Amino acid sequence: MAYERIDLHAHSHFSDGMLSPEELVALAAQRKVQLLALTDHDTLAGCEAAARECARHGIDFLHASELTAAWRGREIHIVGLRLDPAAPALAARLQLVCGQRAERLRAIGERLERCGLPGNELVAAALAERGTPTRLHLARLLVEGGHARDADDAFDRWLAAGRAAAVPPPWPGIGTALAAITAAGGLAVLAHPQRYQLSPGALRELCAEFREGGGAGLEVSLPGMSPKDAARMASLARRFELAGSCGSDFHLPGLPWRPLGRFAKLPEGVVPITERLGLPQAP
Ligand code: MN
Ligand code: MN
Ligand code: MN
Repeated sequence: MAYERIDLHAHSHFSDGMLSPEELVALAAQRKVQLLALTDHDTLAGCEAAARECARHGIDFLHASELTAAWRGREIHIVGLRLDPAAPALAARLQLVCGQRAERLRAIGERLERCGLPGNELVAAALAERGTPTRLHLARLLVEGGHARDADDAFDRWLAAGRAAAVPPPWPGIGTALAAITAAGGLAVLAHPQRYQLSPGALRELCAEFREGGGAGLEVSLPGMSPKDAARMASLARRFELAGSCGSDFHLPGLPWRPLGRFAKLPEGVVPITERLGLPQAP
């Protein structure tokens, strides 16, 4: 049976999403998603529960994660699809980055203290939450504490690059992320390429390096991608022989412009990542 609606990029509360894996899968079922990948940042912690729940609803499921990496000083996200959770190289990479995430939050806490905010306390609370520690957790706590209007404001005031409590990202390069995904039997997909604010030339260089390191796909269909960006991403996919992937990057309900589930059909001439995964194709 061909898939009509799939989602290969979604988050649960095991990273910075708001729903449990069970709630996420229930929403996916409601939205008639037929193939789902749970892609929490630097963890596979929610995948077992999501897989169980998907089986109950007759949804095909891929163990997955969105790995954080650095390229030329920028943060780059790489989605690993169909990962073996028991692969040691992957577990080591995820553990390394989660440790770096915690360390970075502690450094941000110190800076917030210097700005007169209860930074250490807020960071301790963020680190006590379930799953991968992220700056979004801290941003939400800054809002709860009355130190920002909303999460965007928290980033604008304190956390974004160049702001008072900013700490540069310490992530390892894309090579080790690609190697860890490959060692876990997965396919690596370059996430939301349009969001890195790279020049067309630099984005081509990133794609070339990504492909060279074993990358398999590129996200070519995401909500909020302009038709112009979508055409650019499709042409990059064709040029570098990267398969096309699509997902919502869903984090929480109530954002009508980022709904869970995408149409599985991809632009002309782009090989669907489902084909590389040996799964059914869009009609
Ligand atoms: Mn996120
Ligand atoms: Mn991302
Ligand atoms: Mn994401």
